[in-house]
Amino acid sequence: MAKTQAVAPAPKVGFVSLGCAKALVDSERILTQLRAEGYEFASDFGGADVVIVNTCGFLDTAREESLSAIGDALAENGKVIVTGCMGATPELIRNVYPNVLSITGPAQYESVVDAVHRAIPRPHDPWADLVPPQGIKLTPRHYAYLKISEGCNNRCSFCIIPQLRGNLVSRPAGEVLLEAEKLVTSGVKELLVVSQDTSAYGIDTKYAASMWKDRQVKAKFLDLCKELGELGAWVRLHYVYPYPHVDEIIQLMADGKILPYLDIPFQHASPKVLKSMRRPAASEKVIDRIASWRKACPDMTVRSTFIVGFPGETEEDFQYMLDWLQEAQLDRVGCFRYENVSSADSNNLEGHVAEEVKEERWNRFMEVQQEISASRLQKRVGKTLDVLIDSVTEEGIVGRSKMDAPEIDGVVHVTSKGRVLPGTIVKVNIDDSDEYDLYGSIKAAT
Ligand code: SF4
Repeated sequence: MAKTQAVAPAPKVGFVSLGCAKALVDSERILTQLRAEGYEFASDFGGADVVIVNTCGFLDTAREESLSAIGDALAENGKVIVTGCMGATPELIRNVYPNVLSITGPAQYESVVDAVHRAIPRPHDPWADLVPPQGIKLTPRHYAYLKISEGCNNRCSFCIIPQLRGNLVSRPAGEVLLEAEKLVTSGVKELLVVSQDTSAYGIDTKYAASMWKDRQVKAKFLDLCKELGELGAWVRLHYVYPYPHVDEIIQLMADGKILPYLDIPFQHASPKVLKSMRRPAASEKVIDRIASWRKACPDMTVRSTFIVGFPGETEEDFQYMLDWLQEAQLDRVGCFRYENVSSADSNNLEGHVAEEVKEERWNRFMEVQQEISASRLQKRVGKTLDVLIDSVTEEGIVGRSKMDAPEIDGVVHVTSKGRVLPGTIVKVNIDDSDEYDLYGSIKAAT
């Protein structure tokens, strides 16, 4: 009689993912690799054999949050592997927590997986077939971030990302498209294209072509957008800078191939402050460009982020930005108070702005933008919009139109007489709006 052998339970990994969408993609890659090797995941620190903390090091507040997550994981578990942006300055972590097992910087997937192997041996059976082809996603099933490059060639004075992640390294177009196709096949309805500088895609490889299906596709912003537009999902572009070649993709938006949505982090409007920030494409005539984009594609949503209280920002510079905002009439805007980041060049600039002045400017900025946002949303009332449903709970149905990126923009609050499922795209009649959100009822599921 054959003897049955007891199978040892698979070792469990706990995971904390902090920071931006780029860090989230790193987390997904690490989790996918570990799952492919047969590791399982624990929902709490206590139930894990080791914990990985993917840190964020962008702002000092993010560093504090990262350090606190490491502290919690050490207290509750004891075996902690640290990776991510804050891992690029390991001494800051070691000074506080000398007992962490290993520290690596961003996108160092192999090193993280090696550290896991050392902490808890790899299971005997790799169980590769347990991993879905699209990998492990931390986002809901119906949308996913698609990272097209790592690093950045710009040197904005307030930012240490190039120090942490290095210069631009673009992925081959064929590889990006294969990943995108797998995601769409697995049920993803919306692809969120991310990188540090999406419009610079391929500059580092001189737009090298790679195979996709039966053809060569160049690693070029326009060519990649064209191909992504053929996959049958919503394609949303983040972190685009207003370089002249961005005009080329507006037609794809007008033709409904990719979403009429541009996320351009302007950060300021005053030429003097932009120069001191060393922002890319700062000299382009942005107001005129936005007007021409809207002419070619009237449904275009322009989203941006700004910083108030940058060193040297005078009341005149700030007022210039408010006037610019009134003229630009951007649809979606986020605003941050300037924060010193250790080792950023902007720390050494003169004219640091007092905290209470930053606060006062932030409030004035938000007041102006809320009015603009409310009036732009008001224009959608009476229209019928496609809405991708994100959640259906006892509190209600919440989705997003083509104007709204997850996490950072507003939402559409939906009522429906019939059943509606998350991940479906429905037609919604918009009957009300406020500063950030729309309200409407479902017309018909598509
Ligand atoms: S574009 Fe500027 S802010 Fe963005 S990652 Fe590059 S250096 Fe940092």
